[in-house]
Amino acid sequence: MPAYAIQCPYCHAPQHAEHPGGYAPMYVNCPTCEKRFILEPVANGVKTYRMNEAPCCSDPDCRAAEMGDTGND
Ligand SMILES: [Zn+2]
Repeated sequence: MPAYAIQCPYCHAPQHAEHPGGYAPMYVNCPTCEKRFILEPVANGVKTYRMNEAPCCSDPDCRAAEMGDTGND
């Protein structure tokens, strides 16, 4: 399980987050400011997004909703 050194996009506190692997985005809760943000592994490292700044493809819930809308029936 890779661990990434990231910075909270709200309060800029440095922290480590474990990711299950691959490039799927995941939510991280900042222990310093207690806000939730998105971590997304990319080819050259990792990106972080504030909740209202992530594109749908980088938002776990939005991705899940899109995938749920297709392939059924
Ligand atoms: Zn924070």
